[in-house]
Amino acid sequence: MKRRNFIALVGTSLAAAPVWANVYNSRTPLQKAGDSVFPELLFAYNALEPAIDAKTMEIHYTKHHKAYYTNFMAAIKDTPAAELDLKSLFEGISKQSMAVRNNGGGYYNHLLFWENLTPTQTNPSAALNTAIEKSFGSMDQFKLEFATAAKKHFGSGWAWLSAGSDGQLFVSDTLNQDNPLMDVVEKKGTPLLCIDVWEHAYYLNYQNRRAEYVDNFWNVVNWDTVNKRYENR
Ligand code: MN
Repeated sequence: MKRRNFIALVGTSLAAAPVWANVYNSRTPLQKAGDSVFPELLFAYNALEPAIDAKTMEIHYTKHHKAYYTNFMAAIKDTPAAELDLKSLFEGISKQSMAVRNNGGGYYNHLLFWENLTPTQTNPSAALNTAIEKSFGSMDQFKLEFATAAKKHFGSGWAWLSAGSDGQLFVSDTLNQDNPLMDVVEKKGTPLLCIDVWEHAYYLNYQNRRAEYVDNFWNVVNWDTVNKRYENR
């Protein structure tokens, strides 16, 4: 079967779900780092067009994400890091090598990213809406702050919506493959939504027009995933 024709049967059988489904369902990366698997995509390469084109999606997933995964597994193989769950690993990432930090982050961040994208129309839950309004004033204000963080981030990295330990939601951006779970970042929290702003995420289709890519991102956000991550934070 061609991968672009493959649609994963999400939710049909939780018992048969792969290990990474724990991440989808709880948003907390509790699986052992050494047991990490390369996730199936939940949509076809062309499913997110025109927001994200098929070629970008294919290269991003099969080359970039796959390389982070492969290099991450190689970096932790036969080391104590392989025995840690991902959350603990990220919370102590300052004690790890740059190979573990960059590739572990790259593996996990893309996994989160694919999960929070969908071609299907979805909506924020009442609970998430309330939390966003409480933290940002309005949904529009949140979207503006998130999009601004994504557009203005200098160089390679990510923009995030996260839940802080104080219950507040916040927007942040991180360098390279860092994420809000890592002890090296300024604003720490539980990731709810992310956007990849590395040039490899948009350059084929948008060239230098990152702002246009960010604006179109809203058309393919999987709010069902964000709602679940918020519920299970
Ligand atoms: Mn990427």
